Amino acid sequence: MPPSRIIFLVCDGMADRTLKAKGNRTPLEAARTPNMDSLAADGVCGIMDPIGPGIRPGSDTAHLALLGYDPYKVYTGRGPFEAAGVGLELKSGDIAFRGNWATVDAKGRVTDRRAGRIKEGTEALAKELDGVVIDGITVILKTATEHRTVLVLRGKGISCQVTDTDPHKENLLAGCKALDNSAAAKKTCNVLNKFTELSKKVLKDHPVNQQRVKDGLPPANIVLARGAGMTPEMPPLAKVWGWDPIAIVGVALIRGICTLAGMEVPFVKGATGGVDTDMLAKAKAAVGALKKHDLVFMNIKAPDIGGHDGNFDLKMSSIERIDEAVGYIRANISSDVGLIITADHSTPVPVKNHSADPVPLLMYGEGVRTDDVKAFNEKAVAQGGLGRLKGKDIMPILQDWVDKAEKFGA
Ligand code: ZN
Ligand code: ZN
Repeated sequence: MPPSRIIFLVCDGMADRTLKAKGNRTPLEAARTPNMDSLAADGVCGIMDPIGPGIRPGSDTAHLALLGYDPYKVYTGRGPFEAAGVGLELKSGDIAFRGNWATVDAKGRVTDRRAGRIKEGTEALAKELDGVVIDGITVILKTATEHRTVLVLRGKGISCQVTDTDPHKENLLAGCKALDNSAAAKKTCNVLNKFTELSKKVLKDHPVNQQRVKDGLPPANIVLARGAGMTPEMPPLAKVWGWDPIAIVGVALIRGICTLAGMEVPFVKGATGGVDTDMLAKAKAAVGALKKHDLVFMNIKAPDIGGHDGNFDLKMSSIERIDEAVGYIRANISSDVGLIITADHSTPVPVKNHSADPVPLLMYGEGVRTDDVKAFNEKAVAQGGLGRLKGKDIMPILQDWVDKAEKFGA
């Protein structure tokens, strides 16, 4: 009998390149991973291009593909996913930005893009601006961690074809500009520029900022926006593929994607989306979620962070901790549960960013056609029975494996 329930684990940025200085190994090869190796030996493996060969994926576009969506149709920018990830209920057509509390001087020069990484008082600041209506467009402002905010424009006749108000470095404010000739883009710029001016006016003498100035800290006296995106219409994963899914995910961007895919995304105590995340707590939550759901989607962010930091050992130890969590999962599931383990992209230590190198993939459970792969790493899985796939192939292959696929033809 093929599995009727699935745990689908994405190890963020886990794949890498061979490092000469580390004995011609990748962090995944160097890591001690007895549990994933044994799953590879008992399952079927392959190598995967999350979007396509040579295309460097973002975590967002890659996750869309892994969940069976076409990122080229659904993705207009990171803003909406980030906004959904911090709990904002978005409507299709909302224009969402990522934002920062920042410091601007009297001459309009941004002197600190993060307002000294402000931690306290941001809720009170956001309250002053959240819900204002400018030219018929409602502006929703929600504060995220530290200096981060999300900014949403809601109303008719707006567009995401606009530039950032964030100058991205210490520089003069440029103002938002339209990227096409549409009335909607022009209107969006007007609203955003008016909002920026309003934020300066409202925040200037706010008690939180008066106190910050007194304490010698840079005031949070402007809201900067970047990464405009239109909230897409995403058919729920449950409807498209016939699963009852849940996501065990810490990091806001991926929480947002899962939310917009119609998945339940609970908070798991100890799951931080950082290297300090409690991976065992996540594994326990995933196994527990199988009682009510038949598809448990997991993301563990930690290996990506080691990759961005260019820290081989940090990445390797994150992978070893993932392997322990995988060991817990394997020991606590019954034979009707299948496992998929992969990554959303490579984040090679020497690159310190995402690369287009393909990622390893394994499927374990009854009904898979096993191959000769005995270890879970980039080189070994390239010899596997799944060959070289794209991210968008995973959901159809899963459907066939578990007998949910329809026959094409007679
Ligand atoms: Zn990623
Ligand atoms: Zn990354």
